[in-house]
Amino acid sequence: MGRPLAHDAARDLDRVVLDAEVLAAQNDGRPVPCRSVPLALTSAWVDADDDPRSDALAALACAGCAVLDACRTFGDRHPEVRGVYGGRSDAQRRPRRGRPRKTA
Ligand code: SF4
Repeated sequence: MGRPLAHDAARDLDRVVLDAEVLAAQNDGRPVPCRSVPLALTSAWVDADDDPRSDALAALACAGCAVLDACRTFGDRHPEVRGVYGGRSDAQRRPRRGRPRKTA
């Protein structure tokens, strides 16, 4: 059993909006590091193996991105997508399991 279609549609729409922001930034000459490095280096963003060195490299590059906030919002809203979004790895964006934190 998969995710509800409405969730998939919302993710697709959010992706289109993020891609539009990325394109606008690139057209204005603002930096979007993951879209401007050589193809061989993009694995730092898309590797699904939670390699901490790779994730740290991508997060460092993300820090200078023109769409950092929008990308982070997308990644946080859709933790099922793999890779680094807005400087955060999928492990960091994945909801924590287990008992809720003690609050008092
Ligand atoms: S914040 Fe990072 S992953 Fe998101 S568009 Fe910018 S460089 Fe790419």
